[in-house]
Amino acid sequence: MPLLESWLAAANTADCPFPLNNLPLGVFSVGDDDPRCGVAIGDCILDARAAEEMGLLSFETGPLLDVPFWNEVMEAGPAVWADLRDQLTGLLAKESTQRAAVEPLLVPMKAVTMHLPFLVAEYTDFYAGRHHATNVGTMFRGAENALPPNWLHMPIGYNGRASSVVVSGTGIRRPWGQLKSASHDAPAFLPSRRFDLELELGAIVGTGSDGPVTVDEADAMIFGYVLLNDWSARDIQAWEYQPLGPFQAKATATSISPWIVTKLALEPFRVATPPRDKPLLPHLTDTGPMLYDIDLSVSLAPAGKPATTITRTNYREMYYSAAQQLAHHTTSGCPMNAGDLLGSGTISGPDKDSRGSLLELSWGGKEPLTLQTGETRTFLEDGDTLNLHGHARGDGYVIGFGDCVGTILPALENPYARPQSRPTFGE
Ligand code: MN
Repeated sequence: MPLLESWLAAANTADCPFPLNNLPLGVFSVGDDDPRCGVAIGDCILDARAAEEMGLLSFETGPLLDVPFWNEVMEAGPAVWADLRDQLTGLLAKESTQRAAVEPLLVPMKAVTMHLPFLVAEYTDFYAGRHHATNVGTMFRGAENALPPNWLHMPIGYNGRASSVVVSGTGIRRPWGQLKSASHDAPAFLPSRRFDLELELGAIVGTGSDGPVTVDEADAMIFGYVLLNDWSARDIQAWEYQPLGPFQAKATATSISPWIVTKLALEPFRVATPPRDKPLLPHLTDTGPMLYDIDLSVSLAPAGKPATTITRTNYREMYYSAAQQLAHHTTSGCPMNAGDLLGSGTISGPDKDSRGSLLELSWGGKEPLTLQTGETRTFLEDGDTLNLHGHARGDGYVIGFGDCVGTILPALENPYARPQSRPTFGE
């Protein structure tokens, strides 16, 4: 499929992240105005709420855009998703007869504040990248035991916290936690010294389920994708993770990009999962290409200094697709809901410079990275700004995801060290 041309010239360049082919969905505000639904096009945002109020967008189900989140569109189902995309394309395409009515509803992107694009119902994070699992397993358990025996048979995951999901641009506070060094018998309560990022893609469940679903049904339930940074305190994680997996190490924050790139925009970029070492059980077997060819990278900028790209990889490196993860999630009968967010797991490639976390890039802190500024990093330092980048590259156009930025803020003072704030009991 070639570039689809818009009457908005800025959307028609080969490197614009938001051409007519993309039409990602977000929530924005201008000044003190209420947040509202919008659609990115070129260097602008179409005020979708206003477009619906004026009758330029309408749905058989009645108004869906009179709320500051996209959940109602998601719940309306795949026919409405396709209808919305058709209507938006009709308004913004070069041959549109509605330009005069639509043009006043465009807001320059640089004038807005972005918000979470949907109400996050629940958040689950997976561990479904083979290179990442092999690297981490090798560091934690040795090369022979790198992949746990279940890993090639199911996508491993844990239930995270929706309350910790934040939109790009939110500051990330270095957490305190229990740390246990090999040289000490007892743990200490300290700020994390091994605070890390994880480069992931988040899949957004659009329609719910009540009971087990197939991989095909799961694929049909997915509404779209965002970039996702699963901030991780490796020192807290190493001490707490056995036997039930990560808990406080992953609970500080999870950043997502502000634009939902819809599954419909990504259709031309579908690719298959890698060859299987062992056949999957029938209910998890691939039924078609359900990964996507999306170039991914991470940049790190120390406070006030230029950024260095620290890794480049691709979403096609995943061993399990989001559809397989979602199908597995429902096998026990677990109900899924519109707005559920599934983290892919860290997306590392096979090479040293394609690893998706500092844990892997610095090999557990033993091999510091040198940045363009000459500084080195093993884990994140206060003031570091991380940005994730994602692009699916078409014929003369790209599908961009926008920024997924977070700056590391210094740890607060130990709240338990101030006598007046110690918890009191029985009073
Ligand atoms: Mn993760």
